[in-house]
Amino acid sequence: MNILVVGGAGYIGSHMVKALGEKGCNITVLDNLSSGHADAVLAAGQLIEGDLANVAMLDQLFAENNYDVVMHFASSIMVGESVTDPAKYYRNNVSNTQNLLDAMIKHGVKQFIFSSTAAIFGEPEYTPIDEKHPKAPINPYGHSKQMVEQMLEDYDRAYGLKSVCLRYFNAAGADPEGELGERHDPETHLIPLVLQAASGKRDAITVFGRDYDTEDGTCIRDYIHVNDLCEAHWLAIKQLQNDGKSGRFNLGNGNGFSVQQVIDVCRDVTGKEITIIEGARRAGDPAVLVADATLARSELGWEPQYNDLKSIVSHAWEWEKNHC
Ligand code: UDP
Repeated sequence: MNILVVGGAGYIGSHMVKALGEKGCNITVLDNLSSGHADAVLAAGQLIEGDLANVAMLDQLFAENNYDVVMHFASSIMVGESVTDPAKYYRNNVSNTQNLLDAMIKHGVKQFIFSSTAAIFGEPEYTPIDEKHPKAPINPYGHSKQMVEQMLEDYDRAYGLKSVCLRYFNAAGADPEGELGERHDPETHLIPLVLQAASGKRDAITVFGRDYDTEDGTCIRDYIHVNDLCEAHWLAIKQLQNDGKSGRFNLGNGNGFSVQQVIDVCRDVTGKEITIIEGARRAGDPAVLVADATLARSELGWEPQYNDLKSIVSHAWEWEKNHC
């Protein structure tokens, strides 16, 4: 199978490329390396440094290659930045994605796997969140992903482009073999930040609010191992190849862990002291975000392997220890 992985040098994309390599796929990675790392691309036959804004480059790429499937991991992902610089998010996440889809249509490539997000649901009306939950994003990041999901529905109807949108809850963890991990700059995600406080790279972790309506007052999230996410992508490709039906799936373990519980597990796993600073709430953070992934389990046959926080944190810690 020939697969184009856009954003294959990033955190989730690079784990996907490794997994696809192990399954014997022919992989091309397209990445502008704005936040990805060339050395994270372990298995691609070809790494092309290029930007989705470049329509001529896309046209040539699709003219010269026969891709069966396109996977799209490349996007801007910082919620706070999306509020202060929405233009960047609508350009990178929406316009550039449209360039990619239009090149696919022009060259007859009809299968697309899209990295979507729990942020399309906005403030939860109920939890766990299933696919029927109303979609009401509360920031430009969530809007940008929701717009692409809408575009994909319309492109399916009009042009027969089949897509699977996978809404990640909190992607976390690292390659269990230690070859890949999370390398965002700046890092904003909880688990790597707590582990950096454990390793001494940071002085402390700031807890964003302890006055939420949860048991210990801190926010609850659904952390899902990056390899489990990758497995869901693989199953989504197989579904597209088998029955050619578009699909939308929420991906999480279905278990919520509070910020305090994450810190406690990080203390256990690392054996290190971790200093906590009590901070204010971060704007736009819902108290609880937990996925109902029943549909992914029943339709894709997805079964997360790492549904305990300890193995997620252990893999992330192995990576952090070797890269701090
Ligand atoms: N969080 C925190 N301190 C930090 C970073 C995150 O308390 O330095 C909290 C954040 O408020 C949220 C949870 O950790 O409740 C997960 O945040 P993250 O940014 O990792 O993912 P998000 O849920 O925003 O996608």
